[in-house]
Amino acid sequence: MDNNLLTPDKDPMGAAIFDYHQNRKAGRLRVFSSQFDEDEIPVKQLFRTLKQMPILEQTALKLAQGKILDVGAGSGCHALALQEMKKEVCAIDISPLSVEVMKEQGVKDVRLLNLFDEHFRETFDTILMLMNGSGIIGRIENIPAFFLRMKQLLSPGGCILMDSSDLRYLFEEEDGSFLIDIAGDYYGQVDFRMQYKDIKGDSFDWLYIDPQTLELYASENGFKVEIVKRGKHYDYLAKLTLT
Ligand code: SAH
Repeated sequence: MDNNLLTPDKDPMGAAIFDYHQNRKAGRLRVFSSQFDEDEIPVKQLFRTLKQMPILEQTALKLAQGKILDVGAGSGCHALALQEMKKEVCAIDISPLSVEVMKEQGVKDVRLLNLFDEHFRETFDTILMLMNGSGIIGRIENIPAFFLRMKQLLSPGGCILMDSSDLRYLFEEEDGSFLIDIAGDYYGQVDFRMQYKDIKGDSFDWLYIDPQTLELYASENGFKVEIVKRGKHYDYLAKLTLT
Protein backbone atom coordinates (compact mmCIF):
# COMPACT_ATOMS: atom_id res chain seq x y z
CA MET A 1 0.00 0.00 0.00
CA ASP A 2 1.02 3.56 -0.60
CA ASN A 3 2.78 4.93 2.47
CA ASN A 4 3.83 8.37 1.28
CA LEU A 5 3.34 11.78 2.84
CA LEU A 6 1.85 14.78 1.06
CA THR A 7 3.81 17.86 0.06
CA PRO A 8 2.19 21.30 0.54
CA ASP A 9 2.00 21.91 -3.23
CA LYS A 10 -0.20 18.77 -3.59
CA ASP A 11 -2.28 19.13 -0.44
CA PRO A 12 -5.44 21.16 -1.07
CA MET A 13 -7.23 20.01 2.09
CA GLY A 14 -4.21 20.85 4.25
CA ALA A 15 -3.99 24.29 2.62
CA ALA A 16 -7.69 24.90 3.31
CA ILE A 17 -7.31 23.80 6.94
CA PHE A 18 -4.24 26.02 7.31
CA ASP A 19 -6.06 29.03 5.82
CA TYR A 20 -9.11 28.55 8.01
CA HIS A 21 -6.95 28.20 11.12
CA GLN A 22 -5.10 31.44 10.33
CA ASN A 23 -8.02 33.58 9.15
CA ARG A 24 -11.17 31.90 10.51
CA LYS A 25 -12.33 31.75 6.93
CA ALA A 26 -11.33 29.90 3.81
CA GLY A 27 -12.12 29.60 0.12
CA ARG A 28 -13.86 26.68 -1.55
CA LEU A 29 -12.45 23.20 -1.08
CA ARG A 30 -13.58 21.62 -4.33
CA VAL A 31 -14.01 17.87 -4.83
CA PHE A 32 -13.97 16.18 -8.23
CA SER A 33 -14.67 12.57 -9.10
CA SER A 34 -15.05 10.65 -12.35
CA GLN A 35 -18.21 9.12 -10.81
CA PHE A 36 -20.01 12.19 -9.44
CA ASP A 37 -20.69 15.84 -10.11
CA GLU A 38 -18.36 18.41 -8.63
CA ASP A 39 -18.89 18.89 -4.90
CA GLU A 40 -17.48 20.97 -2.07
CA ILE A 41 -16.36 20.31 1.52
CA PRO A 42 -17.28 23.24 3.79
CA VAL A 43 -13.91 23.94 5.44
CA LYS A 44 -15.57 25.13 8.65
CA GLN A 45 -16.99 21.62 9.09
CA LEU A 46 -13.46 20.26 9.42
CA PHE A 47 -13.19 22.34 12.62
CA ARG A 48 -16.42 21.00 14.20
CA THR A 49 -16.75 20.89 17.98
CA LEU A 50 -18.09 17.88 19.88
CA LYS A 51 -21.62 19.33 19.85
CA GLN A 52 -21.47 19.99 16.11
CA MET A 53 -20.37 16.45 15.30
CA PRO A 54 -22.74 13.88 13.82
CA ILE A 55 -24.09 11.42 16.37
CA LEU A 56 -21.99 8.56 14.93
CA GLU A 57 -18.80 10.53 15.66
CA GLN A 58 -19.97 11.54 19.13
CA THR A 59 -20.70 7.88 19.87
CA ALA A 60 -17.23 6.85 18.63
CA LEU A 61 -15.54 9.42 20.88
CA LYS A 62 -17.58 8.23 23.86
CA LEU A 63 -16.60 4.60 23.22
CA ALA A 64 -12.91 5.33 22.57
CA GLN A 65 -10.81 4.32 25.56
CA GLY A 66 -7.25 3.65 26.68
CA LYS A 67 -4.51 4.72 24.31
CA ILE A 68 -6.29 6.08 21.21
CA LEU A 69 -4.94 6.52 17.66
CA ASP A 70 -6.80 9.12 15.56
CA VAL A 71 -6.05 8.14 11.95
CA GLY A 72 -6.16 10.91 9.35
CA ALA A 73 -6.87 13.45 12.05
CA GLY A 74 -7.18 16.53 9.76
CA SER A 75 -7.63 19.73 11.77
CA GLY A 76 -7.56 17.70 15.00
CA CYS A 77 -11.24 18.16 15.88
CA HIS A 78 -11.65 14.64 17.28
CA ALA A 79 -8.27 14.65 19.05
CA LEU A 80 -9.13 17.96 20.75
CA ALA A 81 -12.54 16.66 21.86
CA LEU A 82 -10.86 13.53 23.27
CA GLN A 83 -8.31 15.65 25.14
CA GLU A 84 -11.21 17.66 26.62
CA MET A 85 -12.62 14.35 27.85
CA LYS A 86 -9.22 13.69 29.48
CA LYS A 87 -8.52 10.78 27.14
CA GLU A 88 -5.07 9.90 25.79
CA VAL A 89 -4.81 10.37 22.03
CA CYS A 90 -2.12 10.27 19.33
CA ALA A 91 -3.15 12.02 16.09
CA ILE A 92 -1.54 11.08 12.77
CA ASP A 93 -1.89 12.57 9.31
CA ILE A 94 0.02 12.59 6.01
CA SER A 95 -0.55 16.34 5.59
CA PRO A 96 2.29 18.54 6.94
CA LEU A 97 -0.03 21.57 6.90
CA SER A 98 -2.71 19.80 8.94
CA VAL A 99 -0.09 18.53 11.38
CA GLU A 100 1.15 22.10 11.83
CA VAL A 101 -2.40 23.29 12.55
CA MET A 102 -2.99 20.45 15.03
CA LYS A 103 0.17 21.46 16.92
CA GLU A 104 -0.96 25.10 17.01
CA GLN A 105 -4.43 24.06 18.15
CA GLY A 106 -2.93 22.25 21.14
CA VAL A 107 -3.12 18.59 20.14
CA LYS A 108 -0.44 17.19 22.45
CA ASP A 109 0.73 14.13 20.53
CA VAL A 110 0.70 14.74 16.76
CA ARG A 111 2.79 12.94 14.18
CA LEU A 112 3.31 13.43 10.48
CA LEU A 113 2.84 9.80 9.57
CA ASN A 114 1.16 7.48 7.11
CA LEU A 115 -0.96 4.74 8.72
CA PHE A 116 0.76 2.19 6.47
CA ASP A 117 4.32 3.20 7.43
CA GLU A 118 5.54 0.00 9.06
CA HIS A 119 8.29 1.81 10.97
CA PHE A 120 5.52 3.01 13.26
CA ARG A 121 5.19 0.16 15.74
CA GLU A 122 3.29 1.40 18.78
CA THR A 123 0.10 -0.27 19.91
CA PHE A 124 -3.28 1.24 20.76
CA ASP A 125 -6.45 0.23 22.59
CA THR A 126 -8.68 2.15 20.16
CA ILE A 127 -8.01 3.01 16.53
CA LEU A 128 -10.35 5.76 15.35
CA MET A 129 -11.14 6.25 11.67
CA LEU A 130 -13.81 8.93 11.25
CA MET A 131 -15.54 10.92 8.48
CA ASN A 132 -16.01 7.94 6.21
CA GLY A 133 -12.90 6.57 7.83
CA SER A 134 -12.96 3.37 5.77
CA GLY A 135 -11.93 5.62 2.88
CA ILE A 136 -8.25 5.39 3.79
CA ILE A 137 -8.32 1.69 2.80
CA GLY A 138 -8.76 2.99 -0.76
CA ARG A 139 -9.76 -0.16 -2.61
CA ILE A 140 -11.35 -3.53 -1.81
CA GLU A 141 -8.14 -5.37 -2.72
CA ASN A 142 -6.26 -3.41 -0.03
CA ILE A 143 -8.45 -4.84 2.74
CA PRO A 144 -6.16 -7.78 3.69
CA ALA A 145 -3.15 -5.42 3.98
CA PHE A 146 -5.26 -3.04 6.05
CA PHE A 147 -6.26 -5.75 8.53
CA LEU A 148 -2.65 -6.99 8.79
CA ARG A 149 -1.59 -3.46 9.69
CA MET A 150 -4.42 -3.22 12.25
CA LYS A 151 -3.16 -6.43 13.89
CA GLN A 152 0.26 -4.77 14.31
CA LEU A 153 -1.20 -1.62 15.85
CA LEU A 154 -3.89 -3.03 18.15
CA SER A 155 -3.19 -3.86 21.79
CA PRO A 156 -4.69 -7.14 23.05
CA GLY A 157 -8.44 -6.58 23.44
CA GLY A 158 -8.28 -3.38 21.38
CA CYS A 159 -10.78 -2.24 18.76
CA ILE A 160 -11.18 -0.18 15.59
CA LEU A 161 -14.04 2.35 15.49
CA MET A 162 -14.81 3.26 11.90
CA ASP A 163 -17.65 5.03 10.15
CA SER A 164 -18.72 4.52 6.57
CA SER A 165 -21.73 4.69 4.25
CA ASP A 166 -23.41 2.24 1.95
CA LEU A 167 -23.42 4.08 -1.40
CA ARG A 168 -26.19 1.86 -2.80
CA TYR A 169 -28.65 4.77 -2.55
CA LEU A 170 -26.81 6.40 -5.46
CA PHE A 171 -27.97 3.52 -7.64
CA GLU A 172 -31.58 3.42 -6.49
CA GLU A 173 -34.22 3.34 -9.21
CA GLU A 174 -37.63 4.99 -8.92
CA ASP A 175 -39.27 1.67 -8.03
CA GLY A 176 -36.90 1.24 -5.08
CA SER A 177 -34.71 -1.41 -6.73
CA PHE A 178 -30.97 -0.97 -7.10
CA LEU A 179 -29.16 -1.02 -10.41
CA ILE A 180 -25.62 -2.12 -9.64
CA ASP A 181 -23.23 -3.60 -12.22
CA ILE A 182 -22.03 -6.68 -10.36
CA ALA A 183 -19.37 -7.37 -13.00
CA GLY A 184 -17.84 -3.92 -12.43
CA ASP A 185 -15.69 -2.65 -9.56
CA TYR A 186 -17.28 -2.65 -6.11
CA TYR A 187 -19.77 0.24 -6.09
CA GLY A 188 -18.29 1.90 -3.00
CA GLN A 189 -14.91 2.46 -4.63
CA VAL A 190 -14.63 6.12 -5.51
CA ASP A 191 -11.86 8.23 -7.03
CA PHE A 192 -11.49 11.78 -5.75
CA ARG A 193 -9.36 14.77 -6.55
CA MET A 194 -9.44 17.97 -4.55
CA GLN A 195 -8.58 21.57 -5.30
CA TYR A 196 -8.16 24.60 -3.07
CA LYS A 197 -7.42 27.92 -4.79
CA ASP A 198 -4.73 26.91 -7.32
CA ILE A 199 -3.49 23.91 -5.32
CA LYS A 200 -4.51 20.69 -7.03
CA GLY A 201 -4.08 17.34 -5.32
CA ASP A 202 -3.43 14.03 -7.07
CA SER A 203 -6.35 11.70 -7.62
CA PHE A 204 -6.82 9.10 -4.85
CA ASP A 205 -9.09 6.12 -4.16
CA TRP A 206 -11.54 6.27 -1.27
CA LEU A 207 -13.51 3.22 -0.12
CA TYR A 208 -17.08 3.48 1.11
CA ILE A 209 -18.12 0.06 2.34
CA ASP A 210 -21.52 -1.38 3.19
CA PRO A 211 -21.88 -3.31 6.47
CA GLN A 212 -22.35 -6.76 4.82
CA THR A 213 -19.24 -6.44 2.66
CA LEU A 214 -17.25 -5.16 5.64
CA GLU A 215 -18.39 -8.16 7.72
CA LEU A 216 -17.47 -10.59 4.98
CA TYR A 217 -13.93 -9.24 4.54
CA ALA A 218 -13.43 -8.76 8.28
CA SER A 219 -14.27 -12.40 9.01
CA GLU A 220 -11.89 -13.57 6.27
CA ASN A 221 -9.15 -11.54 7.96
CA GLY A 222 -9.71 -12.53 11.58
CA PHE A 223 -11.96 -9.66 12.73
CA LYS A 224 -15.56 -9.45 13.83
CA VAL A 225 -17.83 -6.48 13.26
CA GLU A 226 -20.45 -4.98 15.51
CA ILE A 227 -22.62 -2.26 14.00
CA VAL A 228 -22.75 0.07 16.98
CA LYS A 229 -25.05 2.69 15.54
CA ARG A 230 -26.74 3.55 12.27
CA GLY A 231 -27.10 7.10 10.95
CA LYS A 232 -30.05 8.52 9.04
CA HIS A 233 -28.61 8.13 5.57
CA TYR A 234 -27.08 4.68 4.96
CA ASP A 235 -24.20 5.64 7.26
CA TYR A 236 -23.09 3.61 10.26
CA LEU A 237 -20.46 3.23 12.95
CA ALA A 238 -18.71 -0.13 13.21
CA LYS A 239 -16.61 -1.58 15.99
CA LEU A 240 -14.11 -4.16 14.81
CA THR A 241 -12.32 -6.55 17.15
CA LEU A 242 -10.02 -9.52 16.65
CA THR A 243 -11.72 -12.92 16.77
N1 SAH B 1 -10.68 12.84 10.50
C1 SAH B 1 -10.75 14.22 10.05
C2 SAH B 1 -10.25 14.41 8.60
C3 SAH B 1 -10.86 13.52 7.56
S1 SAH B 1 -10.22 13.80 5.93
C4 SAH B 1 -12.17 14.73 10.20
O1 SAH B 1 -13.06 13.91 10.47
O2 SAH B 1 -12.40 15.94 10.07
C5 SAH B 1 -9.05 12.47 5.80
C6 SAH B 1 -7.69 12.80 6.38
O3 SAH B 1 -6.91 11.61 6.31
C7 SAH B 1 -6.91 13.87 5.64
O4 SAH B 1 -6.45 14.82 6.58
C8 SAH B 1 -5.75 13.12 5.00
O5 SAH B 1 -4.57 13.91 4.88
C9 SAH B 1 -5.58 11.94 5.93
N2 SAH B 1 -5.00 10.69 5.36
C10 SAH B 1 -5.28 10.15 4.15
N3 SAH B 1 -4.60 8.98 3.99
C11 SAH B 1 -3.88 8.77 5.13
C12 SAH B 1 -3.00 7.75 5.58
N4 SAH B 1 -2.72 6.69 4.80
N5 SAH B 1 -2.43 7.86 6.81
C13 SAH B 1 -2.72 8.92 7.62
N6 SAH B 1 -3.56 9.92 7.24
C14 SAH B 1 -4.14 9.86 6.02
